[in-house]
Amino acid sequence: MEKILDVKDLHVTFTTYGGTVKAVRGVNFHLNKGETLAIVGESGCGKSVTSNAIMRLIPEPPGKISNGSIHFHGKDLVRLTEKQMRNIRGVDISMIFQDPMTALNPTLTIGTQLMEGLRQHKKITGEEAKQKALEMMNLVGIPNPEERLKQYPHQFSGGMRQRIVIAMALICEPELLIADEPTTALDVTIQAQILELFNRIQEATGVSIILITHDLGVVAKIADRIAVMYAGKIIEVGTKREIFYQAQHPYTKGLLKSVPRLDLQGEKLTPIDGTPPDLFSPPVGCPFTARCPFAMEVCDKVYPGTTELSDAHKVDCWLQDERAKQLLASTANN
Ligand code: SF4
Ligand code: MG
Repeated sequence: MEKILDVKDLHVTFTTYGGTVKAVRGVNFHLNKGETLAIVGESGCGKSVTSNAIMRLIPEPPGKISNGSIHFHGKDLVRLTEKQMRNIRGVDISMIFQDPMTALNPTLTIGTQLMEGLRQHKKITGEEAKQKALEMMNLVGIPNPEERLKQYPHQFSGGMRQRIVIAMALICEPELLIADEPTTALDVTIQAQILELFNRIQEATGVSIILITHDLGVVAKIADRIAVMYAGKIIEVGTKREIFYQAQHPYTKGLLKSVPRLDLQGEKLTPIDGTPPDLFSPPVGCPFTARCPFAMEVCDKVYPGTTELSDAHKVDCWLQDERAKQLLASTANN
């Protein structure tokens, strides 16, 4: 499988008057061509910050990618200039946000907005741009595209607006689409249609997708692999089956409690007792220690190693870390 994105040891910090927030703390993951990776976790876990870092949309200051690399087709995005990034954003990598209205200009027609990105980045005629816009309207399932191109955002329903935003994100044929909570603002029926649309688009275009969400129902519908984030770290990653049926991290298991089956939809992550640690001064050990029913002495002292349970399945937990047994044995000998 061809890797199109490879994130290594990514650290993102935000400097505030109260101190430095360590929002992303050494994240590693990759994305294969044509797959959908879901990054899940509670709000504040660093999932949106991670996706914004890939787009180099971390506001500097107060934000900063303080360490790590983000290789996209062998190029380290962290090292590119803003000018170089502008040629990648919207062209090779596109992003969709939760609220479709923020992405649309209320004073311009849908047609103008669809063609804008295209004409900015590709050398094509007006007629070619229009043809491409019509093609995209068809792809995302908007009826009467010829008519609809002349209309304004307020003339569309929320679901239709999100389809237009998706069309805008795809019009330059990006290889990577990042969708941050793309269906959260929509009602459940429309949500299902938009998720179905993502699947269809991926089949039609081969685009790779990173989906940021807190909703396991969404994940169940479209993810190939799942990365679970907690307190700025990916604590478990695996295929959808591995995460839904063989999760090993106590936090992942807690998240999944309310969604025992893949066919359930619309289930939100049930809150686990307690709150995530303060990211101004995150714990040196496992950040889940204070909430974990299985916490051992070593847990809050040393961060666990990453244990590989299969090719795709990796977990950061002392319960899986071989060294825990040795530590326990050496304590017993003393
Ligand atoms: Fe619980 Fe320890 Fe595993 Fe953290 S490392 S999840 S505290 S058992
Ligand atoms: Mg977010």
